[in-house]
Amino acid sequence: MTNNLSDPCASDGYFHIPDSWRDDPLLAKLEGQRIRFAGAGLRKCVYERDGGKCHYCEEPVALEKFQADHVVPFSKGGLTILSNLVCACVRCNLAKGNVSYEQFVAELAERGLEWRNEVARKQANWFADQRRLAYGY
Ligand SMILES: [Zn+2]
Repeated sequence: MTNNLSDPCASDGYFHIPDSWRDDPLLAKLEGQRIRFAGAGLRKCVYERDGGKCHYCEEPVALEKFQADHVVPFSKGGLTILSNLVCACVRCNLAKGNVSYEQFVAELAERGLEWRNEVARKQANWFADQRRLAYGY
């Protein structure tokens, strides 16, 4: 059994709770569930493996700002594990949106950073509009 807490780089993407949690029904429910978000330990593994650079545009990105991007999306069964995560800058992750990894890599290679910036700007505006509609600010 992999212990996600002791070696985040070796995490298999599922919760494995310690024996001391098994008496608590709420905590016990976590056992075997897919982990959605990379914790600080796994984030550091991704960041260091990718040399602190965005996987897509290769620009340096700060440890606090990079986004751990799922290659196979979580919504499509992708796991939150080192081999399924890449270091992405905010602009690339915004521009990638819901398109597949392969499609985004191909489009970025063909269209370049100006295209990425334009798509990222539109996405950011869309998110801001959604927030205003939902929360009024
Ligand atoms: Zn980037």
